[in-house]
Amino acid sequence: MTKILIVANWKMNPDAPGRAALLANKIERGIARVRNVDVVLAPPFPFLLPIAAVVKKAKVGAQNVFWQDGGAYTGEVSWHQLKHLKVGYVIVGHSERRYVLNETDEMINKKVSKLLENGMTPILCVGERERTGDDMPDAVGIQIKAALEGVKKNLLKKLVIAYEPVWAISTSPHAHPDNPENAFRAVMYIRKVVADLSNRAIADAVRVIYGGSVHAKNIEGFLKEGGMQGALVGGSSLDSSEFSEMVAIASRIK
Ligand code: PEP
Repeated sequence: MTKILIVANWKMNPDAPGRAALLANKIERGIARVRNVDVVLAPPFPFLLPIAAVVKKAKVGAQNVFWQDGGAYTGEVSWHQLKHLKVGYVIVGHSERRYVLNETDEMINKKVSKLLENGMTPILCVGERERTGDDMPDAVGIQIKAALEGVKKNLLKKLVIAYEPVWAISTSPHAHPDNPENAFRAVMYIRKVVADLSNRAIADAVRVIYGGSVHAKNIEGFLKEGGMQGALVGGSSLDSSEFSEMVAIASRIK
């Protein structure tokens, strides 16, 4: 069975490096005995270094990357700079970047390609803004195809796809988590889209995880009945006990 992946997306929190290190420390203590789960903490850029210094079990992830190797790109951060800080995972195409910062499918494609070509793992976020029925909206397939356009098939095995319906993200108006039945449909649908672009073996190797108002009381449903291979956690990842409990629950999934 593929190892479950639990990712903490701290977004623009906490407000100071000391508090970020404290949170990472508490999570480290909370997950010290947990086996068989990959845990990634994705703090804001300025806290990557202090967090990298305190984590042992968890790995450090970034929330964004630029697609150029270096040069005159004010405010941007390259894959190379992240790799020097031992960052292996990078969140790409989060809905807040798509819809608040106008990140396009083309930009997301360049980021995904660059990361995969350089041995890093993109956590590609996809998800519809509205849902009208049980069928997976075409928007999700369109986002995946656009993000993977031109990417060499043999690199896709490393990819993580986070299905994050935008309406389920805790900060969206009237947010509510999706349900495990629909999460299962999302896993099947996403694997089919990836298989159509590559082949079944590659599609099965890609980890598909769920994000959107996940907490300790609902994570099990997404991982068990939902068939998700992990979770991308926003708000609940800022509470060390809640987050550690989620990792512990994930470690007990058979
Ligand atoms: C997110 O924005 O990636 C996310 C999953 O947020 P939350 O868990 O707060 O819904």
